[in-house]
Amino acid sequence: MIVAAAKPWEEIMASLHGMHKVLVVGCGGCVAVCLAGGEKEAGIMASTLRMQRKLQGEPVETEEITLTRQCDPEYVRELGKKLEGVDGILSLACGVGVQVIAEHYPNIWVAPALNTKFAGATLEHGSWEERCGLCGDCVLGQTGGICPIIRCAKSLLNGPCGGSQDGKCEVKPNECAWNLIYERMGRLGRLNQLLEVAEAKDWSQGRDGGPRRVVREDVKLDD
Ligand code: SF4
Ligand code: SF4
Repeated sequence: MIVAAAKPWEEIMASLHGMHKVLVVGCGGCVAVCLAGGEKEAGIMASTLRMQRKLQGEPVETEEITLTRQCDPEYVRELGKKLEGVDGILSLACGVGVQVIAEHYPNIWVAPALNTKFAGATLEHGSWEERCGLCGDCVLGQTGGICPIIRCAKSLLNGPCGGSQDGKCEVKPNECAWNLIYERMGRLGRLNQLLEVAEAKDWSQGRDGGPRRVVREDVKLDD
C-alpha cells in the first residue's frame, strides 16, 4: 500500500488561510489502512480545523466526505454535489488522490493534508516500512522475494557491499538486505542462483522523464 502521514498542522492551516468553508475529503484506500486519511481521520481533521480557527477568531465551516478511493475518477465525481459554497478542499489522500481531485475540479483549491511516504507494508499496528521503490522492472524473482533496491541502503544488485556486521546494514540500523537474501536463498536451496551476475538494471522503466503509464487494451471499455 501507499503509506502516508499527516503534515504538520501549521502547514495545513496555512494552506487553508482565508477560507470560510472547507470540504474535508478522506480516502477509504491505502491511507485508511495506514491510519492517516480514512473516515475517522477526516472527522478528527475537520473538528480540529474548526476548533483551531475558532480559537484564532476566524471560524470556518467544514463538510466531510470519505470516498472509496480518491485515485479513481469514478469516486471523485461524487464530490461535485458537495462543492456548493466551498472555498477549498482538504484532501487526506496520497499525492495521487490530491491530483485526481485537482484534475477534475480545475476551479477549486485543493490542499494535501498528508505527506506521501512510500510503498510499504505493515510491520505491526502503527508501524510501516518501505518495501518497493516502484522501479518498473522487478528483480524479486532473482533475489528470493526481497527487494535490494529499497531494502539495501546502496541498492546493490550483486551481493553485499562487505560492510554489514552481524546481519545489520552498515548504513542504516536495518537488517542487511543481502544477508536476508542469502539466508533465504540458502533455506530454499537456491544459493547457486546468486552466482549469476545481474546485469546493469534497466532504469528506463524507472522514474525519469515524466509520468509513466500502463495501458491495458484488453480491459479498456469501448467509448
Ligand atoms: S525490484 Fe523494483 S519493483 Fe521489485 S520490489 Fe524492488 S523496487 Fe519494487
Ligand atoms: S550492509 Fe547490506 S544492506 Fe547495507 S549497504 Fe551494504 S549490502 Fe546494502
